Amino acid sequence: MLIPALKKVVSFILDSVYPPFCWNCGGSTDNSVGLCALCAEKISPIDKFCSRCGSVQQTESTPSCAYCSSKRLPYEFCRSLFRYDGVFRKLLTAHKYSSDTAATRILKHLINSLPLSLDFHPDVIVPVPQDRRRLRKRGYDHLVPFARLIASKLGNIPVLSLLRKKVATPPQASLSDSMRKKNLIGAFEVIPTPLPKKSKALLFDDVTSTGATLKECAKTLKKAGYIVGLLTLSR
Ligand SMILES: [Zn+2]
Ligand SMILES: [Zn+2]
Repeated sequence: MLIPALKKVVSFILDSVYPPFCWNCGGSTDNSVGLCALCAEKISPIDKFCSRCGSVQQTESTPSCAYCSSKRLPYEFCRSLFRYDGVFRKLLTAHKYSSDTAATRILKHLINSLPLSLDFHPDVIVPVPQDRRRLRKRGYDHLVPFARLIASKLGNIPVLSLLRKKVATPPQASLSDSMRKKNLIGAFEVIPTPLPKKSKALLFDDVTSTGATLKECAKTLKKAGYIVGLLTLSR
């Protein structure tokens, strides 16, 4: 009982000496989240979506949509949690490229405060593999803290790096849409595990842009016998 009370006192003293400022605009905030109310309002969770292809819907969530109903997809489920724009995009960029721990903390808070029940019940969460050279440069996998958080929200699902990149490929962002697809064909392989056939793998990434990487990873997992769903933090 004493320790939580002590923590409260310490954080009260710290907040009085260093009042919390908004990570985005520098304005003062009356909360410990790190964003002021105005900046927090600029973050949009995606609450209406097609749960087959993940596209944002205007009126209500749907099991498939005009875009995907005639398409064959290598996954059965797809969802993104936030719009990749404005403050969310800034937070993710700061987390990913500047190892900004305040941004990481805010992102975790945002993910944590979102109700998360999926129309797909995974046996395992699989982060999209990062390029080994870039991973060495950064020193850690920027997806893992969020994958673990999602895993615990879904009921302690194991997070396993089941995929690896066979060959180094040029960064996707440096290529045109058509080159992005070609760039990745056959680039990934599945690491053998004792998981039974038809285990449900939830492939996880930070952002869906063209979806080329996710599609190729999903195809690779599907070929190895997994039933695949996709979850990204944003699109
Ligand atoms: Zn602000
Ligand atoms: Zn759809």
